[in-house]
Amino acid sequence: MSASILKIDEKDLHKSLDTAANIIKNGGTVVFPTETVYGLGANAYDPEACLKIFKAKNRPADNPLIVTVSNFDMVNEVAYIDADLLKIMKKVWPGPLTLLLKKKDSIPSIVASGMDTVCVRFPDNQIALSLIEKSGVPIAAPSANLSTKPSIVDSNDAIEDLKDRVDAIIDAGRVRYGVESTILDATKKPYELLRPGAFSVEDLNKLFGKISINEAAKGYKESKVALTPGMKYRHYAPSKRLFLIENEEQFKKFISSERSKPFTALCSEENAKYAKYEKIILGSDIYEVAHNLFYAFRELDKGNNKFGVIQSFPENSIGFGVMNRVRKASYLIIKENGDLNGIIDANIQ
Ligand code: AMP
Ligand code: MG
Repeated sequence: MSASILKIDEKDLHKSLDTAANIIKNGGTVVFPTETVYGLGANAYDPEACLKIFKAKNRPADNPLIVTVSNFDMVNEVAYIDADLLKIMKKVWPGPLTLLLKKKDSIPSIVASGMDTVCVRFPDNQIALSLIEKSGVPIAAPSANLSTKPSIVDSNDAIEDLKDRVDAIIDAGRVRYGVESTILDATKKPYELLRPGAFSVEDLNKLFGKISINEAAKGYKESKVALTPGMKYRHYAPSKRLFLIENEEQFKKFISSERSKPFTALCSEENAKYAKYEKIILGSDIYEVAHNLFYAFRELDKGNNKFGVIQSFPENSIGFGVMNRVRKASYLIIKENGDLNGIIDANIQ
């Protein structure tokens, strides 16, 4: 199978969207852009079509899918949402905030991994919205990356990884934000932040009053933290070992030292001057860093160095989502001052 690559220049846009919508209607899979990252979608009402998403991504069956919609009637078709919450969502949607809600029977069990909840998202991207609208059904769409790999933010990368795994790919270049949507559990009070992302926690607090924050939101749980080991599995990870040095002074010292030779430094514009060897500049503000992060992980994999080392960023606005991804992608998190070189040496064998 080789995916149709669908162009979106002025001449091809409508034809491409019609082709993609027909594929969705006929039970196929389409990779499409959203404002956050690329999604890998299928008809959310069709369990066989949704099974293809899990297969294409190698996604474990116990990791449920987000359902994307293009209007408020569709929200009501897939989930129970109370009137007060709906009023707020009408101010926020379309936008990069996903809500966890009680699911309706229209959504097959495979989408929700057997649970009675569903994640609903109304993306702020005209191509995504037109595709859903033309398909006439909600589209189940997790991020388009292969399971455990960095999310896809550029259509060339989608083509490279997925051309033999899906029916079509919409070739729409780079996405706007570069990290996934924020996920808020609206089935409990206070609402709980499950995953930080492109919609800021500061804005959530303004909208909903104080929300609670799930302990996994910082992203520590799935990585190995130096001095507090306990690795389960990684997420969003480049193939090469990525080391996160959380203390900025320690990071700057390391990348300016001789020992950093086998490492590519992933750093801010401001810290680039400290890098003695290879570096990838992520940007000069946190939105730029978010935009470039997953792209940089792929560049790291393509480069010559064996390892990557990354700094931490302030965890306000989109920075909370950035640091969640960075921690989950890291092979090793170095949190505290201590024998940095010893810790690194023990982990580059
Ligand atoms: P992805 O779109 O690949 O970034 O992944 C979707 C995210 O939504 C994953 O972190 C899922 O665990 C989460 N998710 C989707 N549906 C549910 C659900 N019903 N309950 C809890 N988490 C969910
Ligand atoms: Mg994902």
